[in-house]
Amino acid sequence: MEVFSSLSGEFEQVLFAHEPECGLRAIIAVYTTAPGPAIGGTRIYPFPSEDAAFRDALRLAKAMAYKAAAAGLEAGGGKAVLIADPRRDKTPELLRAYGRAVDRLGGAYITTADAGSTVVDLDIVAETTRFVTGTSRGSGDPSPVTAHGIWHGMRAVAEEAFGEPSLSGRHVVQQGTGKVGSALARLLAAEGVRLTLADVDRAAVEALAKELGAEVVPPEEALSIPCDLLAPCALGPVVTAATIGGFKCRAIAGAANNQLERPEHARALADAGILYAPDFVINAGGLINVEDELHGYDRARALARAEGIPGTLREVFRRARDDGVTPSEAADRMAGERIAEAERRRRAAR
Ligand code: NAD
Repeated sequence: MEVFSSLSGEFEQVLFAHEPECGLRAIIAVYTTAPGPAIGGTRIYPFPSEDAAFRDALRLAKAMAYKAAAAGLEAGGGKAVLIADPRRDKTPELLRAYGRAVDRLGGAYITTADAGSTVVDLDIVAETTRFVTGTSRGSGDPSPVTAHGIWHGMRAVAEEAFGEPSLSGRHVVQQGTGKVGSALARLLAAEGVRLTLADVDRAAVEALAKELGAEVVPPEEALSIPCDLLAPCALGPVVTAATIGGFKCRAIAGAANNQLERPEHARALADAGILYAPDFVINAGGLINVEDELHGYDRARALARAEGIPGTLREVFRRARDDGVTPSEAADRMAGERIAEAERRRRAAR
């Protein structure tokens, strides 16, 4: 593993924490703290190699910095990965040891939940560090705030795609009806949206559809149904080499992280006349929610701040038009510029 060349001068610091007695093998990557503390989740996953874990930590930390910057938060970006199987290896000793590692960074990195970690785990991490958000005594599950931000963000998408922000009467196909997806579906149904839902959990999606008067389709059909808006709220990339030719929607806007398998798929969507709301812009409500904890948590304020997402999307779409680039490129540029500006201010203050 080539450590320093992998950092390419971009990353502020990386902590490797190892406590063999409890099986701790953690990598905490801090992309930047120039805008503020680096907030990011704890991913617990049985990575196939240390190299894979290290690369994921770097990729995810940078993505968090971009998400925070696009949302206009005074927060940097970081991420922790633990090489462990969450079903087998996640003991209280491991989580406490991990908390000690977070604590050694002195607040440069503030952790929260991610794949493989839960609110209950964060409560144990909090026994050994105060640099943790999203515990049961803190802001808790961010999903309702994420859904709220997406719902509002969809209005900016509708305005750009259809010339008016109202979602009423529009047809939305939603893939995934978990924590964010179910909350979003309820908000959309209440606004008079025609909803088509899909989830691999057939019983759960049927129950939700019955409650909301929505239609259900098999997951494998969801991406190619003609509709106004496609809302990816499941896991993994949806815009891939295999799916790119099959979309019959006018716009894509949803919760899932990393919706594009490859950056060049943004151009393919634009060429097909499909408006794409960059995932890290429209799904920032969860991060806005945990960041709010740093100011003394207030759920009403977090929801109100998530309503800033449509404004950010409008700015992204405007820049994309002005610069002749895709919304993804425009969002990346915007976030990159904000981080560079924070770095410049910090250097000037030294
Ligand atoms: P979740 O696990 O509660 O829900 C995911 C749902 O997707 C589940 O119901 C699952 O059955 C379903 N699913 C999985 N594969 C599917 C497929 N192929 N087709 C249809 N359905 C499928 O997760 P969540 O917290 O609701 O998050 C959803 C997505 O949003 C994830 O990509 C997550 O990273 C992202 N996200 C979540 C938050 C948050 O606040 N929870 C914030 C930002 C981004």
